[in-house]
Amino acid sequence: MAGAEVSLEHLYRVFTKPEGKDSKLAQIEQHLSDNLADFLSQHVVTKVNSLEQIERSFAKFAVPEKPEFVTDHAESLLTTLVANSVNTYSPTFIGHMTSALPYFHLPLAKLLVGLNQNLVKIETSKAFTPLERQVLGMMHELIFKQSSDFYKTYLHSASYALGAFCSGGTIANITALWIARNKALPANAQFKGVFQEGMAAGMMHYGYKRMGIISSKRGHYSLSKAVDLLGLGRQQMITLDCPTQQLSPEKALAAGKQYQQDGNKVLSIVGIAGTTETGHIDPLDELADVAKELGCHFHVDAAWGGATLFSKKYSKLLKGIEKADSVTIDAHKQMYVPMGAGMVLFKDPNDSNAVRHHAQYILRAGSKDLGATTIEGSRNGMAMMVYSSLHILGRQGYELLIDQSIQKANLFANMIDEHADFELVTSPTLSIFTYRLNPKSVQHKCMAQPQIAHALNNELDKLTVSVQKRQREAGKSFVSRTRLQIEKYAEQSITVFRVVLANPLTTESDLQNILDEQLEIAQETKTWHKLTKKNK
Ligand SMILES: *Cc1c(COP(=O)(O)O)cnc(C)c1O
Repeated sequence: MAGAEVSLEHLYRVFTKPEGKDSKLAQIEQHLSDNLADFLSQHVVTKVNSLEQIERSFAKFAVPEKPEFVTDHAESLLTTLVANSVNTYSPTFIGHMTSALPYFHLPLAKLLVGLNQNLVKIETSKAFTPLERQVLGMMHELIFKQSSDFYKTYLHSASYALGAFCSGGTIANITALWIARNKALPANAQFKGVFQEGMAAGMMHYGYKRMGIISSKRGHYSLSKAVDLLGLGRQQMITLDCPTQQLSPEKALAAGKQYQQDGNKVLSIVGIAGTTETGHIDPLDELADVAKELGCHFHVDAAWGGATLFSKKYSKLLKGIEKADSVTIDAHKQMYVPMGAGMVLFKDPNDSNAVRHHAQYILRAGSKDLGATTIEGSRNGMAMMVYSSLHILGRQGYELLIDQSIQKANLFANMIDEHADFELVTSPTLSIFTYRLNPKSVQHKCMAQPQIAHALNNELDKLTVSVQKRQREAGKSFVSRTRLQIEKYAEQSITVFRVVLANPLTTESDLQNILDEQLEIAQETKTWHKLTKKNK
């Protein structure tokens, strides 16, 4: 491949003029806008190459010396990168929260990248700043339903923020707990506040030995990162057993009281609305009361499940979310926005001031720069994607999407429940649930004789792992797997398949094919033969 001439003239061209219409890049653009799913299914040949083979295409470690023609580079991207990508648009890719996107995001993404606005400060974003504030207002209203006077006061206020837009649920959770921490160790006459004097001085001043957060074992790992970053330490992430997959308010209250009696301070109770592994929703209403009794912050991690609020039928499942001090919602999950769209909403707009930061050249006092209350600095205008989606789909459109996902999850769960060789492990509350293969004769024994269930479960775990791996490697379909503590097996942990029904284009026959394929793969394994022979 002949390298391009290195000249300033060439570089200017890269900044200004596109190559001819017949260039590879133009072809890719055309193809993408014609039919993205078609483009992906033609170009993405998942799992034909092993990861080791793919790594060989990315083995060079020196910066390329000479410029390449864009068209040549695009050609090489297609063969090395695109061809080996994961087709997240496939209707049989039902293992993770990442799925197909509405087509309108492609041209919008081009507009977004083209405009290259920086939301950290008004001087580089102008209209994007009020747009982002409005999006935060809409999501705030969806959760907290305050009066129109409230929104008139706070939507565009320079002194308050209704929330923070960020790259995802992780940063949203960290932001929420950052605010909670600064509020838990506030300034007074003798102390300048934890944000000025630091954790050691704050803990000493208030006489706390430790500070921690309480959630169930299903809490997302971002919470562990948060307690680490905030100077609390990972051991202060107190995760309670949840054989029912939900945090028990009684257990949370007892654990919190004990922790505080020992000279510690509970920073926050974290309720989860849609756990990553099983889609369960904690009893938010009761947990809000627990937080109140302990005198701590109440955060709801609704990164996955928050969009359920669009559905009149299912929003009741999140009862009590409006009592939270802060709520995380990821638009890049069930709002079908491209990745990089997380939000945290604060019930009290003044909470944002617990972390407000000023600088001389931007974020000046009194400015409306969003960067003053966000962890991240330079940030793109992803809020536009949320804004457009909210307009193009509307609440009713989202409601249809949410309702059909949940209904499809129930349909699939029924198919599994009725199948003699499968076992439904956790039922869907939202559109996530878990199951496993469990041959008919074995399943019978598992249920009837708990004393032998333990040993059988270990064998079944091996079966689940090997089927999940082989199915993934075959590349036709994908479900994920996880390990869960299960009530009906005397709280033993077992390995299960995990499905996320996110893609609206997944059909009943896709689901049937996935089960058929799993059974077929299983019947070829030694474990299956061993299990079924022994348990005739
Ligand atoms: C996805 C998820 C997160 C993390 O969000 P990212 O966008 O991946 O950073 C946190 N909590 C829950 C419950 C989630 O589902």
